[in-house]
Amino acid sequence: MILVSACLAGLRCKWNLESAEHPAMSRLFREGMAIPVCPEQLGGLSTPREPSELRDGRVFAKGGRDVTREYRRGAEETLAIARAFDCRSAVLKSRSPSCGCGRVYDGTFTGRLVPGDGVTAALLKANGIAVYDESAAGEVAAAIGVSTVAEEN
Ligand code: SF4
Repeated sequence: MILVSACLAGLRCKWNLESAEHPAMSRLFREGMAIPVCPEQLGGLSTPREPSELRDGRVFAKGGRDVTREYRRGAEETLAIARAFDCRSAVLKSRSPSCGCGRVYDGTFTGRLVPGDGVTAALLKANGIAVYDESAAGEVAAAIGVSTVAEEN
């Protein structure tokens, strides 16, 4: 069982009430092989909500509100779910201040990226869970024997 960002699984949990459906991850979800989680919702934030970005180790909504506590709570809840389902790996949405893995927006809301992990990605990594960016989703699905070729064409 793997953990997957709920928006990649096709759930409309993004800040703007949209999904970021990825065919491989949504198929894993529908076949009962992936647990979808949205750390921002788990942390108590509403949907839709203001977009937020990381800056100096904290998270701020575009309007200036410090939402670090909600992001940290969502990360803790996500880790608890990963442990409950014995998930050893996670495929997470790129660039998000929660789920981003390797690169995140720089806190200026201008679309610029800087090296770093989102709050949830960092906590999962620190607890021994292998975290993959969504760009590796097809490879992760293939590695566990799920083909998505038909759905991607
Ligand atoms: S917190 Fe993660 S799962 Fe939720 S909408 Fe943002 S990127 Fe998707």
